[in-house]
This record gives sequence, C-alpha cells and structure tokens, in this order.
Amino acid sequence: MGDGIKKIAILGSTGSIGQQALDVIHALPDRFQVIGLAVGKNQELLERQISELQPKVFYSSAEPDFAYGGEFLSMEEIASHPEVDLVIIATSGKAGLSPTLAALRTGKVVALASKEVLVMAGEIITTEATLHQSQILPVDSEHSAIWQCLQGEGGKPQRLFLTASGGPFYRYSQSQLSGVTVEQALHHPTWKMGRKVTIDSATLMNKGLEVIEAHWLFDIPFENIEILIHPQSIVHSIVEFADGSMKAQLGSPDMRLPIQYALCYPERLSNPGLPRLDWSKIQSLNFEPVDYNKFPCLKLALEAGRLGGTYPAVLCAADEVAVERFLNHSISFTDIARMVQKTLEQHQSVAQPSLEEILAADAWAREYAERLSLCQTSGIR
Ligand code: MG
Repeated sequence: MGDGIKKIAILGSTGSIGQQALDVIHALPDRFQVIGLAVGKNQELLERQISELQPKVFYSSAEPDFAYGGEFLSMEEIASHPEVDLVIIATSGKAGLSPTLAALRTGKVVALASKEVLVMAGEIITTEATLHQSQILPVDSEHSAIWQCLQGEGGKPQRLFLTASGGPFYRYSQSQLSGVTVEQALHHPTWKMGRKVTIDSATLMNKGLEVIEAHWLFDIPFENIEILIHPQSIVHSIVEFADGSMKAQLGSPDMRLPIQYALCYPERLSNPGLPRLDWSKIQSLNFEPVDYNKFPCLKLALEAGRLGGTYPAVLCAADEVAVERFLNHSISFTDIARMVQKTLEQHQSVAQPSLEEILAADAWAREYAERLSLCQTSGIR
C-alpha cells in the first residue's frame, strides 16, 4: 500500500454488491486498483468488467467463453494473492467461506458482504482473524452502522439495536402473507438488492441472519441484540453504551455508502455520486419493537443462532433452497419458513463443528430441503 493505492479483489463482482463496489471504485479512481475479479456464471458482464479493469487474475465457475490474457485462478488463490490488500467477499451462499479463510490466513483485510460466512462458521472465522491479526470489515449497512458508532469508543457496547425496514409485508395479516406473489416479494420498499436478499428481507430471515452476524462481528451475546422496525431505513442501527448513552448512524438507504466506508476505512472521502439526506424531505423517523411471532423465519434464525453448532449452516442452506423454490413459483411465500423449520427439526447438530462438518451439514440440509420441496410441488405433504 506504499503508493496509497489499495489493491482490491472482488469475489462476486457481477452481483448487486459487487457492481456497487465497482461503482465506488470508479468514482475514486486514484485510490484503488482491481487485481482480481471472481464471478459465478455471468460471463457477459465478467467479460465487460475484465476488458475495462484488466485484472491480473480472474475466476469464473463456468468455463470462460472469451479469451483473456490474465491468469485464471481459484477464488482461494485470488483471495490470498500476494498483490491483494483487500478482498471484498460478495459471493452468494457458502461460496465465500473458504476464500474468506484464505484471505484471513494471509493477513488480508476482508470487506465482508456475504452474511453466510459468519452465520455458518462464525467461530472458525473470528478465531482465524484473531490468530492472523486480520481485519474483517462489515459491508452490510446495519453492521457498518454499528462499526461506525464504535469508532473512538473504548469499551464494549452494552446493547445493539439492529434496524429493519420490515420489508413490504410488515402490516400484512397471516392470510395475506400466504398469498404473496414473487413479484410483490421482489419489490422492497427502501433498498435495492439482489433477489435472494430481497426475499430474505420480506420474510425477515435477513434480519435474523444479521443478528447472528452481529453476534460474531462484535462479540455481543444474543440477548443484548435487539431488532427495531424502522420503515424509513434512514437510521441504519443504534449502539447503547454502559452509561445508557446511544449512538446511531444515519444516511440514505444506498449500499454504496457502507461499501465505500469499508473500502476507504479509516478515511472518509467525498464521492459526488453518493446521495445525501435532505431533512426537508424527511417528515418523521419511526421505530417500534419487532413482532417476533409474525415472521417465523426470524424466530427460526434467532433460535438457530442461539443453539449454534451446525444449526446456522442448516438454516442458511434450507433457506437458500426454499427461496429458490419460491422464486420458481413452486412453493408459497409462507412455505419458505415451513421448509426451513422442517429441515432444522430433522437435523442432528454437531457442537463446535469443523469446516468439514459445517459443509457436510450444508450438503445434508440442501438434499433434505430439495426432497421436501419436491414432495410439496407434487402435492404430497
Ligand atoms: Mg442489511
């Protein structure tokens, strides 16, 4: 970092977070150099990103259908590449797990956007980060808010209040919820996100995953993390300290803000592309306690988080299968929670799991949930 330019690798560069990270990088061209890009299957966008950024190394889960002189490496090799300073983990599902470990073990700064990494393997990830004195910087807006509130504070916070918009269906009745369509669920009131996260926000599964993530990132017991419904998505989270004083972080609901904070940390840089809050347009900021009973996915996530072991990995896997099925119109919105619950109930959790045991639990849960969904689509319940 001698020349002041941070050398970046983006895993998941064609996803929503990956693209917004590149938007930030474009806006601050003297600050960053993209060394590596890794994607799943979006060849077309990868090819465009590659021709523009000319990364030294790249990866795609599908065989590249274009010619490029850069070196084709695995995601783990990219994450631990000697030239890389900071790795953005913006992959989906469990794909980010082993690259994150590779990055932490080689002392990289990890800007973590993939929730599953800490949810599935929080103990292993945080232990490795401590062992190698590597930093994990949160990218999720709530965790970024907490992190920003903690700047300059010596002691540990007493309580965390994660804010949640409540998604599009917070005021819906039980019967309204069961009739929700894919199109309705994909229409989030405040945030623009990828499809999976948008559905998870509508079921509040996303908030449950965020509580587990906050537990690991900030080493706070589950009972000291609360959720507040805040429909405007302006206050991104609140921290309470020992003396009862609270700090909150505010900003427009735009993911580029927390992404830029993680990329530029500890600096704050002016970026004309970022939106600013206009107080003349904000009539009120509302907060209310969350209704834990109305959204079963939230309850399931918190329970899995508290129980620990391989339950959180099973939660993530079953949810991924269930959301995919919902998006394919083969199960209903309320079936998502049912599928996750059934899978969790059948799971034999392993305490203090190794990475292999976590991946085995993930594989088991996927298979189990796939079978469940097949039964449901063929009408056998
Ligand atoms: Mg969030």
